[in-house]
Amino acid sequence: MADVYIVEDDPGIRQSVARALQDRGHVVRSASKGMEALAALMADPPDVVVLDLGLPDVDGADVLRMLRATSQVPVIVATARDDDAQIVALLDAGADDYLVKPYSGAEIEARIRAVLRRVQAETGPRRIVIGGIDIDIGGHAVTVDGEVVELTRKEFELLLYLAGRTGEVVSKRELLAEVWRQPYGGADKTVDVHLSWLRRKLGDRADEPRYLVTVRGVGVKLVDPTCAES
Ligand code: CA
Repeated sequence: MADVYIVEDDPGIRQSVARALQDRGHVVRSASKGMEALAALMADPPDVVVLDLGLPDVDGADVLRMLRATSQVPVIVATARDDDAQIVALLDAGADDYLVKPYSGAEIEARIRAVLRRVQAETGPRRIVIGGIDIDIGGHAVTVDGEVVELTRKEFELLLYLAGRTGEVVSKRELLAEVWRQPYGGADKTVDVHLSWLRRKLGDRADEPRYLVTVRGVGVKLVDPTCAES
């Protein structure tokens, strides 16, 4: 869930995008004018901005430049034209991503999640410790009880994703979508196979896991065995 700020002067687009994002659990604020948006963005920065370029009072590209003078808030630019030169100029001016109109609610949500993931990877913790598991995120290295564990790239991404949600049950559908970027097919064993490899490498037994707990019919959760409540 993110705090999203939409700058868009077309009321139809503004409302439909806001509704689509709210339906997906995001908090949405919006403005129809550039200067009004700038003031609000400075006063109370959101997690991400969706910025229309064609605004009535000031060009969206100028809003981006003014914003970038003081703020590193992620900005996704919405443009009416698929114009390479313009898009390159906007990315150079500090836009994090762009969308070409018309775009769907699902599309903008996917872009928002991708931008937030990148920001998280750049500014988030460099290291996660869960019980005896020590994950060095930048170094792509994992130790369990001080012993180096060799993980494949996918096993590492799977562990990292679960570590970001420690104590929460995560569905296999979500893992396939977020770690493998694939739609869920009922017969797909990819997630199960990687979970069983990861479990073995973490030194877990399926019947008596310390870390990777399967919740039958729901999914899997990574728990910290040193925390009583998980
Ligand atoms: Ca417009």
